Amino acid sequence: MANLGYIQVVRHCNHFCGFCSNPTTPYTHTFASMQVLVDDFRRRGYFGVILTGGEPTLHPELPEITAYAAQQGLHVRMITNGTRLADPAFAGAMASAGLKLVHVSVYSVRPEVEARLRGSEGTLARAFAAIDNAARLGIEVNINCVINRLNAEHLDENIRYFLQHHPQVRHFVWNNLDPSMGRAEVNQDQFTPRLADFERSLGRAMRLLHRSGRSFRVEKVPLCYMGEFGWASTETRKIVKGEERIVHFLDAKQTVRQTDWEHRYAPGCAACSLRPICGGLFDRGDAYDPAELAPQFIDPEPVVRAILEDPRDPSFSRVSLAQWRAAFSDRSKETGSMGQVDGMAVGARSPEGERLYAAKRRAEGRKAEALGVAMETEAAGPGENGPDDPASADGPASADGPASADGGTR
Ligand code: SF4
Repeated sequence: MANLGYIQVVRHCNHFCGFCSNPTTPYTHTFASMQVLVDDFRRRGYFGVILTGGEPTLHPELPEITAYAAQQGLHVRMITNGTRLADPAFAGAMASAGLKLVHVSVYSVRPEVEARLRGSEGTLARAFAAIDNAARLGIEVNINCVINRLNAEHLDENIRYFLQHHPQVRHFVWNNLDPSMGRAEVNQDQFTPRLADFERSLGRAMRLLHRSGRSFRVEKVPLCYMGEFGWASTETRKIVKGEERIVHFLDAKQTVRQTDWEHRYAPGCAACSLRPICGGLFDRGDAYDPAELAPQFIDPEPVVRAILEDPRDPSFSRVSLAQWRAAFSDRSKETGSMGQVDGMAVGARSPEGERLYAAKRRAEGRKAEALGVAMETEAAGPGENGPDDPASADGPASADGPASADGGTR
């Protein structure tokens, strides 16, 4: 199975998205503290590791930990906003270190919308340069896009732009906004979309990609909003394949292991034929409306078959539909788990980290005021539970890179 582990290598960022779900904390990683986590993934037989943040390219030892993970046989991926990867020398260092795949995050190809969402001007051109640098160096490029209120109605316009200007990109990932953590939680009214806001443009975007021969994944969107593309749901793929994820959060949550991909359901979901393979409505912040869900009465097996027979899955061993039915029935009797994993410290809070955190919060407070967005609750102290609970394993990355970057995984 294509199990992928996440390491948040930093939690600060050079952008300031108003819906960042994993903003700055006082925790920091050294090469040695990341090495322990990489070794654990190797021992567990994981397929790969996703380096994320915050903005991972801001860690000074990123090429070194990339090289180490690659030497351990892991498929190394990174989720980035692209600003540093626009520098050809840095992109070259990452390629030489063994980076195999990069998810470059772009929310909107409209420069004014992207600038508003990023809290910074000029980021779009650098993301495009990052895409071209990586592709030229032989790093596979995927595009990540967080669906939010400001881009909801032009997701297909983004795709048309990429097909025309960056035809080398073959895979796209949408993540519906996680409204339960960080700045996303305190700015729900500005950024959280309704499902109906993006239903039509997402449908158009998926059809465009499908017709062009590209692949794509969609996370945190219930199957009743996926039309004929239910097989592209990240949660459904994980439910069907029985995958797990381990996320090493660089905050008070530390390590979370997730094997249960079901979120929230409306009473009507009980009558829905897709319920056993649907992740439901992602919401831990009461931001989405269950009344938008619409029970389906179609055969779920074509969705399952499309996932089982996907020739692009690099690691899922082929099983027949009959074998899958038996295994799925056994798995459904087990209770899912989403809990913390003891035993490994994930980063540390040092006096220097606390000082940098305090300085970063002051600077970000000024940006927040200028942009008219609220700041997230301050990170909890050592041993306390933060504002985020372990259930937030779905949002290990910043606004840029939710977990389904692996949705990237075929
Ligand atoms: S009605 Fe509920 S179970 Fe059915 S597709 Fe929608 S969210 Fe999933």
